[in-house]
Amino acid sequence: MVIDAVSKNMPCYRCLYQSASEGALNCSDTGIAAPVVGAIGALQALETLKLIVGIGESLAGYLLTFDARYMDWRKLKLPQNPDCEACADFRGGFTDAGG
Ligand SMILES: [Zn+2]
Repeated sequence: MVIDAVSKNMPCYRCLYQSASEGALNCSDTGIAAPVVGAIGALQALETLKLIVGIGESLAGYLLTFDARYMDWRKLKLPQNPDCEACADFRGGFTDAGG
């Protein structure tokens, strides 16, 4: 998931999981194969560079999932939750906040 705080109407993490315990499988409890961490980290770095440089199409507004057992990638559109309290103050993007 990429959060582009500059763009308007982008979903945040809380739009996906409304509470901290919802969907709370974590790497400490369930384990994760180290190469998966490296692959996802590299993609996150690439997405960050793309946003900074302003090239290509960002994953902002999408959730990209990866199931390493089957090498299955899925890209799902993630709309902003209109009831999300976490990003309610930033619906117009962070640059417009408070104005
Ligand atoms: Zn949100």
